[in-house]
Amino acid sequence: MNGTKVDTLKVPGASLYYTVRGAGPILLMLQGGAGDAEASNGIAGYLAGSYTLIMYDRRGMSRSKLDEIPEALWLETHSDDAHRLLAALTTEPAFVFGSSIGALIGLDLAARHPEQVRVLVAHEPPAYELLPGAERTQAERTHDEIQEAYRREGMAGAMKKLAAASGVDFSDREPDVQMPAITPDAAPEATARRAASMTFFLTHDAPAVRRYTLDIASLKAAPTRIVPAGGSNSREAQPRRCAATLADRLGTEMVEFPGGHTGYVLRPRAFAAKLRAVLEMRPPRAEEFDISYTGTPAWDIGRPQPVFLALAESGEIRGRVLDAGCGTGEHVLMAARLGLDATGIDTAAAAIAIAEGKARDRGVAARFLVWNSLHVASLNEQFDTVLDSGLFHVFEDGERRTYADNLKAVLRPGGRYYMLCFSDRQPGHVGPRRVTRDEIRATFDNGWRVDSIEPAKFEITIGANGALAWLARITRT
Ligand code: SAH
Repeated sequence: MNGTKVDTLKVPGASLYYTVRGAGPILLMLQGGAGDAEASNGIAGYLAGSYTLIMYDRRGMSRSKLDEIPEALWLETHSDDAHRLLAALTTEPAFVFGSSIGALIGLDLAARHPEQVRVLVAHEPPAYELLPGAERTQAERTHDEIQEAYRREGMAGAMKKLAAASGVDFSDREPDVQMPAITPDAAPEATARRAASMTFFLTHDAPAVRRYTLDIASLKAAPTRIVPAGGSNSREAQPRRCAATLADRLGTEMVEFPGGHTGYVLRPRAFAAKLRAVLEMRPPRAEEFDISYTGTPAWDIGRPQPVFLALAESGEIRGRVLDAGCGTGEHVLMAARLGLDATGIDTAAAAIAIAEGKARDRGVAARFLVWNSLHVASLNEQFDTVLDSGLFHVFEDGERRTYADNLKAVLRPGGRYYMLCFSDRQPGHVGPRRVTRDEIRATFDNGWRVDSIEPAKFEITIGANGALAWLARITRT
């Protein structure tokens, strides 16, 4: 595990305490309720291997001190903080996960600064304005009752109501998850820091949530992929109802996540797996490939395919290189050894982990990402060469065009795509589906020039003769 870096960022009216941990693309975590940076520690353990996690204390919470206590706090101030924090750390669009008030902050961020957010998972945003009349009135009444309970009975009373209203079920938690410091029963003994944060939440954040109105038009116009999410265990609760309504309003589907309103805290392992799948749009077959990499699959020969080695030696592989469906990374490492800037993507996290290990062992600088080639356009990067050894023949008919369009988005005009796939001349049915030359031509018929499709061979771990293949050279026009 990579170490955690701790820092503060001065923003107007406050200083934000934040932590950075892990490696890979940035994932900003926007906690719900009175959760500070530590609230995501559990789930962070499952995500830090593939993301650089940014977690922070919202202003007013724990260690993020305010210059002075404001008369009224606005949700927009929180989203401005998130905007500034991201801007201080990266110029690239980031992954953002927000839960409850954090989801509202994420939505406001995506509406105002869509260029900063690649994908937003908005988990149970309490946007009561989205609910139909009677339900909305009910939600707002509950909200007032929580405030009232806080005034009359103090924190324990408010917490009990809040948990019941939002669908928090403390008994639905993974075995190694500790009971949170503040629960309806534990409130009197809670640590001073958590208690102070909860007080701040109830007096400042909860009213800010109540005053906030979503900017649906901007959200619809944003390039950000917005994924409303709801708990599997909070079906009747209002925040989850808001997530479902938000999905309708945005013309998308709500995705169900494990657990209730605080599933990311109480069921971190299952929640992390779902979050990764959603962020990276992992296709169903990723799990099958993951399993195949627990052994040595037939294609994983531990060195580059001779066909690709010959391309490298003849100088055809050049510039920034992307290997789509890179497996355990031999072709990426080959390009990197040539001194090229090389990236490998694969949806099988197990393959990427092996590839990263090889790069470390061999002392080669190369980048590996768990990423879906069918959505590689969302990387927002440009390459001169794309390699594909054994990926194209994995796709179903309907996916081929999507793949070609995505490659078109990341390949510079004049750049080249080299593809090795199983050939229709290979007898029998063992192994992947066979591809004909005509099918290759038909897929790359718009915005492409097919320069050559030559008979070639795949080397495999089983059988000395390998398998019959096509090597296609295709230029992006
Ligand atoms: N190029 C590697 C692996 C070929 S096997 C080699 O030559 O050894 C095909 C690879 O594509 C597998 O690792 C599989 O996990 C990956 N894959 C399948 N669908 C994918 C997709 N949609 N996006 C990225 N990788 C995918």
